[in-house]
Amino acid sequence: MNPALEAVRVRYTYPNGHDALREVSIEVEAGAKVALVGPNGAGKSTLLLMANGLLRPTAGEMRLFGEPFRYDRRSLREIRRRVGLVLQNSDAQLFAPTVYQDVAFGPLNLGLAGADVRLAVTDALAAVGLRGFESRPPHLLSGGEKKAVAIAGVLAMHPEVLVFDEPTSALDPASALEVMELLDELNASGTTIVVSTHDVELAYGWADRVVLMDGGRVLHQGRPDEVFLNGDLVRAAKLRLPVVLELHAELTTRGLVRSGEPPRSVLHLIHALDSTRPADGHGTVLLVDAGQVGHVELLGLLAGHPGIHVGAMGTAAKALADREGLRLEFASGVIDRCLLKALLGEDSLVLCSSPMLAHVRDRVAAFEARTGLAVAVRNPFEAD
Ligand code: ADP
Ligand code: MG
Repeated sequence: MNPALEAVRVRYTYPNGHDALREVSIEVEAGAKVALVGPNGAGKSTLLLMANGLLRPTAGEMRLFGEPFRYDRRSLREIRRRVGLVLQNSDAQLFAPTVYQDVAFGPLNLGLAGADVRLAVTDALAAVGLRGFESRPPHLLSGGEKKAVAIAGVLAMHPEVLVFDEPTSALDPASALEVMELLDELNASGTTIVVSTHDVELAYGWADRVVLMDGGRVLHQGRPDEVFLNGDLVRAAKLRLPVVLELHAELTTRGLVRSGEPPRSVLHLIHALDSTRPADGHGTVLLVDAGQVGHVELLGLLAGHPGIHVGAMGTAAKALADREGLRLEFASGVIDRCLLKALLGEDSLVLCSSPMLAHVRDRVAAFEARTGLAVAVRNPFEAD
């Protein structure tokens, strides 16, 4: 294991004497997607503030790629560049009169030259899908757009680790999914991601590692199914089980699904149900690189597959769909939805941002390995 971020027996007492962290040890592997899950007051925000040096442990230590944090000004600057923190409340993070100035603040502070600052800001705004928002005042944006600006401000410093306090709080479900997909996209291009949440559905479906916290302690950490199958611990933390796990348990008790690996998603649960009856042929997923496909090719492809389900993953792909005036049937949870259609024997077309291509193939391969089914994923513009 190559830990990007570690807390080693960390304690923290607020100035008023409140013990917010009683002894917390966690390891966040480089490249991982980790969710800190726990009820209000568990200590999640305190731990995230510690992760980029805004708070200093009362005892124990934080480490970044094995190096203990140091708290002199230079070291802190370096830590804050390498570990980007997005606060729960965007209004607390955004302060400049325009989106551009807000996102430029970090790079300017790092002492980048003018042209490099412009490039960093342009890239970061493109990454979060906010091209063209440069001169807008942040306080007049929607909740989802404000989060996106806050994320861009952090991305402009190219952090290796992104820590994000309650990424979906105060967002409507569609914006929440968009933010989580953006985090997937960043993760696919190598950023280690830690989020805090009390939303068990989000943690269970999204994270590849879950840290269950309560009362300033870690109750358990491990794979999401490992953690959430421990019903007593989950209830001790005043949380509830993810709905798919609850349903799976009930269906298993009634003999409606074979007991087996706990489902990670609706897709897995449906497969467990489907596998009790004989399957017909499966549909195909046509995977198209949004950065490569031309207007005419795309129209030809759609004309050749009337009624195909169309989805887009990643900001570049969504921008392409927008330019082409495509009606997207799937704009979130795209891979699972395509696989659900494939199980019904229907085809889908996924426009995908380049960094997400490998991620799609990995996810489908993981599904195949888990289920023993074969679902064809094809680039229609490449000979097989
Ligand atoms: P979570 O993010 O899991 O809800 P927090 O880290 O915000 O938990 O808080 C952990 C505990 O520390 C809570 O009991 C909270 O009331 C307390 N706490 C948080 N911030 C402060 C503060 N600035 N001063 C004193 N106590 C605080
Ligand atoms: Mg909090």
